[in-house]
This record gives sequence, C-alpha cells and structure tokens, in this order.
Amino acid sequence: MRCTCLRLPVRCTQTGADTNRQAQTGPKGEILKEIMNKDLPEILQDFALSSKRVTILTGAGISAESNIPTFRGPEGYWTIGSREYHPQEMATYSMFIQKPEEVWKWYLYRLGVCRKARPNPAHLALVEMERLFNDRFTLITQNVDNLHIQAGNSLEKTFQIHGNIFYMRCANECSSNIYPLPEDISGKVKGEDLTPEEQILLRCPDCGERSRPHVLWFDEAYNEKYYHYHSSLEVAGQTELLLIVGTSGTTNLPNQVVWEVKNHEGIIIDVNVEENPFSNLALSCSRGYFIKESSSTAIPLLLEVFAKCLPSS
Ligand SMILES: [Zn+2]
Repeated sequence: MRCTCLRLPVRCTQTGADTNRQAQTGPKGEILKEIMNKDLPEILQDFALSSKRVTILTGAGISAESNIPTFRGPEGYWTIGSREYHPQEMATYSMFIQKPEEVWKWYLYRLGVCRKARPNPAHLALVEMERLFNDRFTLITQNVDNLHIQAGNSLEKTFQIHGNIFYMRCANECSSNIYPLPEDISGKVKGEDLTPEEQILLRCPDCGERSRPHVLWFDEAYNEKYYHYHSSLEVAGQTELLLIVGTSGTTNLPNQVVWEVKNHEGIIIDVNVEENPFSNLALSCSRGYFIKESSSTAIPLLLEVFAKCLPSS
C-alpha cells in the first residue's frame, strides 16, 4: 500500500539549520503544516510501515491542557496549623508517617480537581494511536490523574510510573494489592477534614490498617511491582520512535528512557509549548525534532499521518 499522507503541502521555514527541525508556533491551523517540514514526513512514513515500536512519554503538560495544575507550584501548597508546606514536603513517605490524615486530605483535594477534568484531544489521539499500533505501542506516563485511562488507553499498555491518585494500597504492605478509592470518598476543598466514615473507608480492605495513596513519593524509589521500572527501561531499549509530550525531564526514570533511545539512535520527537532539556536533547540527535506546540494541537496531527499510513483494523 502506498502512503499518500505525506504528500500534504508543506511549508518550511529555512532561516537557519536548526529551524528545519524545529516547528514554530503560529496561528492554529498553519502550525500543523509547519510540523511536517523537511525529512520528518518521510521518517514517520518509514516508521509507520515498519514493525518497530513506538513509545509515548507524557508529563504534566498534557494534563495542563485539561486544566490540571502540576501541584508543584502554589496550587499544591498546603497549610497545617500556622505553617505552609510545599508539595515536595507533602508528597513524601516521611510526611505520611508523621501526618497521615493531612497527606490524605491533600490527595483528596487533588482528587477533587482531577475528578472534574476530562481528557483533551491529545489524550484521545493517543487512544487511537494505541489502536493503530497495537503491540508496537507503549505509553509511559508521569501523570497520576488517570486521564489516559479515562480516555481509553489500556492498563496493559499504560505504564503509570508515578502511580494513580484514584487508587490506594496498604501502608503496611500486607499485600501488593491496589484498590480503587471507594466511591463514597469525596474530593476535598482546602482545609476540609476527613469524616469518620471516610477514615474507615480509607483503611486497607485486607488487614484493616491504614492505606496510602498509590503514588510514588519524592523520598521513595521506583520499582517494578508498582511503577513498571524495569518494564519501562526494557521498552525504551526496543523503542524506534519516542514521542515526548509535555515533560521536561525532571525525574529519573523518564530521563533514563529518553537517554536510552538517544543512545541507540532512535527517532525522538519532543512536543512542548516551551523549550526544555528534552527539546535540546532531541535537537542534538540525528533524527530528533522539537515541535513547539500544545499537545492537543500536535498529537492529533501526528495521529493523522500515522492513520493514513496504516490500515485501520
Ligand atoms: Zn493491609
């Protein structure tokens, strides 16, 4: 089957060597054609028609387009008594041991924000991308907001490497079971206490002891059991095309994934509204690209290219 999708009119800005591989922001609609500059269409075509693997690495940027803040800034500040705590203090095992109810209240406040959010066009395009690529597809996400799963990506193909705040597990590790938060647990506003009923609902269903949010905290390490650590690195080693979406590489595992793909000279495309360490890294690769654009604009376009190359099932 001959692919015709890459015969779309292409406008290139050739004001310098780097601009050939860096799409510029501009009026919506125009931007999409800008992305398809120079050799990228041919590379995407060759990739789509191969049997090689694609990995998507997502971070806070894609969720921000669904109005979920990073919670690393002021949205995540939390007042206990007369002291204000920062997210880097709240999201720790150490804080959970000292003030478990406050940590739960903070997560239930975040839960309330996430429950109101809906997947955006980038999330939906990634669902379709999973369907198109099937066993060639893996989604590695740093986001704990459940939006990829809500959109329709499968749990099997989605590695939630920082956990998911819609789930809890035993704080005493009586088992490695992971449970959805009970439906009667409500999202909180800042300062709102847990009810006695909620305190009971937040106990481990297996042993009755305290449960904890199913998330990776700042003072904890990645592992395979909860966070797909080894699986992510294994997939990275097999990845021909890495699509980085809305993350700038501030955490360890995503960095390892990106460097693994760079080291075996895979294709790296970074989609981000601003320059960041990953965009610079991508542009340092022989087959690396930086699309300076919102994910909800850029990802559906990339999907469109792939969809025209691949037979729909
Ligand atoms: Zn337990």
